Amino acid sequence: MPKRAPMTDPGDTPLRIIPLGGVGEIGKNMYVVEYGDDIVVIDCGLMFPDEEMFGIDLVIPDITYLRERKANVKAFLITHAHEDHVGGLPYILPNFPGVPVYASTLARGLLGIKIKEHKLTSNPLLPLDPGDEMEIGPFTAIPFRVGHSIPDAMGIALRTPVGTIVHTGDFKFDHTPVDGKLSDFAIIAKLGAEGVICLLSDSTRAESPGYTPSERTVGEAFKEIIEPLSGRVIIATFASNFARIMQVIVAASQFDRKVAVVGR
Ligand SMILES: [Zn+2]
Repeated sequence: MPKRAPMTDPGDTPLRIIPLGGVGEIGKNMYVVEYGDDIVVIDCGLMFPDEEMFGIDLVIPDITYLRERKANVKAFLITHAHEDHVGGLPYILPNFPGVPVYASTLARGLLGIKIKEHKLTSNPLLPLDPGDEMEIGPFTAIPFRVGHSIPDAMGIALRTPVGTIVHTGDFKFDHTPVDGKLSDFAIIAKLGAEGVICLLSDSTRAESPGYTPSERTVGEAFKEIIEPLSGRVIIATFASNFARIMQVIVAASQFDRKVAVVGR
């Protein structure tokens, strides 16, 4: 057996992975990854209140654990710009002045607006895109593209002194995505082959058997529905589902219809 240096012996320092929300619930996704004196946080979401939470506007994760280790928090890494992954930032970042937030291109665009609105100028918003690799203390973050109902969604692999953990972010394996950007199966396979000590995998309704059809099938349905109609057609969607909005516009243009967009 090769002799291990005492300071890097994985037995001396445990790796901690602590969910502060988002486990067994839809909302307020937030993972703390801690090794020694270094912490990175993956996502910082909010949850919309249920019908019994009278007078509550938003639910955010309990960050007592992080507050007690403030100086150790090195970075917030964002997998994608859905509110249940970024909505907590305006309320939580003020506790961590100067700590950078890393996000992909679209997430940065949307977060930039949020940061301006809430005047959170002390936290730098920095790029972390699929294909990048970034060292943060004892961690190396490796983001990789995954398909989701918002563009520019990523999973994040974190190499740590004791092994690699993989956080998939929210994902759907769509082999014909509307934006043509496939989940990066190559890097997922490579990480798997190298060995992963912990996989954090989140995909809504993953417990239902079967396979979710491609987002493209929604576009086909729009065409079938819109073609025979003569009156106004009202379509509701998440404002961040750009692929769906795009398919509405494509279908509308095909049948010479005008499109009016209402919402945030
Ligand atoms: Zn999501």
